[in-house]
Amino acid sequence: MAVNSPFVIVGAGLAGAKAAEALRERGFDGPLVLVGDEHERPYERPPLSKEYLQGASPREDVYVHSRDWYEDNGVELRLGVPVTSLDPGGHAVTLADGSSLPFAKLLLATGSSPRRLPVPGENLDGVHYLRRLADSDRLKETFRTASRIVVIGGGWIGLETTAAARSADVQVTLVEAAELPLLGVLGREAAEVFAGLHTEHGVDLRCGTHVTEITGEDGHVSGVRLRGGERIEADAVIVGVGITPDTGLAVQAGLDVEDGIRVDAALRSSHPDIWAAGDVACALHPLLGRHIRVEHWANALHQPATAARSMLGEDVSYGRLPYFFTDQYDLGMEYTGHTGPGGYDQVVFRGSTARREFIAFWLRERRVLAGMNVNVWEVTDPIRTLVTSGLPVEVAKLADVGVPLTEVFAEG
Ligand SMILES: Cc1cc2nc3c(=O)[nH]c(=O)nc-3n(C[C@H](O)[C@H](O)[C@H](O)COP(=O)(O)OP(=O)(O)OC[C@H]3O[C@@H](n4cnc5c(N)ncnc54)[C@H](O)[C@@H]3O)c2cc1C
Repeated sequence: MAVNSPFVIVGAGLAGAKAAEALRERGFDGPLVLVGDEHERPYERPPLSKEYLQGASPREDVYVHSRDWYEDNGVELRLGVPVTSLDPGGHAVTLADGSSLPFAKLLLATGSSPRRLPVPGENLDGVHYLRRLADSDRLKETFRTASRIVVIGGGWIGLETTAAARSADVQVTLVEAAELPLLGVLGREAAEVFAGLHTEHGVDLRCGTHVTEITGEDGHVSGVRLRGGERIEADAVIVGVGITPDTGLAVQAGLDVEDGIRVDAALRSSHPDIWAAGDVACALHPLLGRHIRVEHWANALHQPATAARSMLGEDVSYGRLPYFFTDQYDLGMEYTGHTGPGGYDQVVFRGSTARREFIAFWLRERRVLAGMNVNVWEVTDPIRTLVTSGLPVEVAKLADVGVPLTEVFAEG
């Protein structure tokens, strides 16, 4: 390692940019390099499937910092150049332009990439994946010209792009392999709310089936074929079948990797001078007592401050509960907490699912693991308190909108 080697951050997304900000805020005044393979300076992705895609917010709003911020804060931004290899022993990374960059400490914030759909026709013109700003621009253009599209995958991205397409008056057929969109993440009752929302907005929902082929004419999408042979015509296809963390550098460098880069509660990897944060990190969560990888905006927003402090030698740990949100048509939702499929034994609703104004709680042994508020606001703090307390609740009170959420704990 050279004398006065910089701190290097690989991945100029939200997590990378917030880490640079946090390092400066915590007083780090040494050289700092932020390397990204995209040509855009760091931006936030949630608007790409929502207000930006719908033309309701300007491009300038997506960026994490102003153009000048990097220079003003002494952050060397190297864009459009992927890091191709990592040598932990030699404390250096190699960039695609052949240059080598030494580091004193390194943060991997490489995020994740869309999972490809392994069917014939996947490479046809008119098949879209949504991750980058340019993808959103292409989709926006597609919504202007297409009259019918097929969306493959009823997860968050699939549903949000469906809502955006419907708002642009494009006909949508949504194909989901499970019985309902979001069934695996939310369970049946809550998933039904989202299914109802989309059918009411005119979406042709095809669940319990899957696409076996994307068909084309002259190299351009013409539709999809479903298991069983049915063909659905389409001018474009959007694939949203999940993401995979970009762990390539970590794997090549021999770091511990298992569903993301394994890091401790201070976000330090199995190498003492390498940290990870954001979508790519599978972090030990002190409250949950296990490693989790969170593919959501709030995690990429908050984890970097902990990583930065840890890089500066502070004794810290990241214990925030996972939080995410979605907006679809007139439905706004926030979800706080964490529960895997089958991790709960009861779902309790408070409010009206029919009016789509409710909070759903996932419980195990009467303890709240997670809460999802739909068109009900200002309840994230009490939900967080219910989860972090680990105390049992009285289910009848939890379900009763008349009882404040601060008064639902079981007595005795
Ligand atoms: C369309 C869309 C909508 C979303 N909506 C929501 C939402 O409503 N709510 C929510 O909670 N979350 C949402 N998310 C998820 C959220 O945006 C992510 O969790 C967040 O972007 C993760 O940030 P990150 O910085 O960890 O990774 P990323 O944003 O993926 O950034 C990582 C960056 O590193 C770059 N990179 C990777 N490998 C290398 C390399 N070897 N060299 C150099 N650079 C590299 C990547 O190209 C990328 O620019 C959405 C995501 C998408 C795509």
